[in-house]
Amino acid sequence: MKITDHIKKANGETLFSFEIVPPVKGKSIQELYNNIDPLMEFKPPFIDVTTSREEYVYKEKDGLLDKKLTRTRPGTLGICASLKHKYDVDTVPHVLCGGFTKEETEYLLVDCQYLEIENVMALRGDARKEEKYFTPTKGGHQYATELVKQIQDINEGNYLHDTIESNELSSFCIGVAGYPEKHMEAPSLQSDLKRLKQKVDLGADYVVTQMFFDNQKFFDFVKAARDMGINVPIIPGIKPIAVKRHLQLLPQVFRVDLPQDLIDAVEACENNKEVRQVGVEWAIQQSKELREAGVPVLHYYSMGKSDNIKAIAKELF
Ligand SMILES: Cc1cc2nc3c(=O)[nH]c(=O)nc-3n(C[C@H](O)[C@H](O)[C@H](O)COP(=O)(O)OP(=O)(O)OC[C@H]3O[C@@H](n4cnc5c(N)ncnc54)[C@H](O)[C@@H]3O)c2cc1C
Repeated sequence: MKITDHIKKANGETLFSFEIVPPVKGKSIQELYNNIDPLMEFKPPFIDVTTSREEYVYKEKDGLLDKKLTRTRPGTLGICASLKHKYDVDTVPHVLCGGFTKEETEYLLVDCQYLEIENVMALRGDARKEEKYFTPTKGGHQYATELVKQIQDINEGNYLHDTIESNELSSFCIGVAGYPEKHMEAPSLQSDLKRLKQKVDLGADYVVTQMFFDNQKFFDFVKAARDMGINVPIIPGIKPIAVKRHLQLLPQVFRVDLPQDLIDAVEACENNKEVRQVGVEWAIQQSKELREAGVPVLHYYSMGKSDNIKAIAKELF
């Protein structure tokens, strides 16, 4: 079922969902299941599965270092299929511009059709680790707008090199990213919102936001988006702080601000167990206020261990 239909069916009730990251290549999927199992009692209608960019690794060969491009966490679509089968839940693969040619994207979407995966999150993707800025892959897309267009074209039967006349066309429900504190490369929030509007005009059905820690930033973002004519559901993404290092890491990687009260509470902690608890309590307060404001879904970034997401969900769902 489409995410937008789940939202309609919920009839104003706020839904619970979360995002997971594929395991490192070679590791069993069991650990993922062990972390997802405790969350299923909160009945998420969908689970997102991220896609990671390929990266360079260096292997010693004949006394020299051999540089190889590899993906350390492959398997997004396989995980989506396996979770769908195991839990009877909709899964949302993240589809990236970076690292994929348009043809590879087309084949991935064809696989999604066969697997009855109806939702996809269309993203540009991060720059590769050794790059300062995102560089488009040869034969791939530069911006998420182009990817949204490709998916929408397929929904209309227009593949890259063929037009298919059929009564069984796909109708992917397309999610895109939004940034309450603006995307790091955007010259202003207003210009970033214009790009978001383009994604919606090209066929995106809903928006999931980058993490934020001050709800007012989300409320302002939603208002600005509505004023600009973006009328699709906007789903807040919530990340509970889990370790002290997040105070530096999250602003650096995601360009988000942390409220002083949260910083003070984390700094006062003696160990990361206490930090995890502070993160849970902050996320519960954020979630309660967002739910009261009528958000369609509370979407959590789980990043591995799920005990904190469970503690939050228990208070809300
Ligand atoms: C909910 C969510 C899930 C994510 N999941 C993943 C994941 O699984 N894997 C991963 O690698 N990354 C993921 N990301 C991170 C995302 O890939 C990065 O933030 C990336 O830098 C931007 O992606 P985007 O889709 O927002 O890009 P875009 O919408 O293409 O925007 C990128 C930048 O370009 C600007 N822009 C857009 N169109 C144009 C144009 N035509 N001309 C000039 N400027 C333009 C925008 O304002 C913005 O600054 C996720 C982010 C979010 C919020």
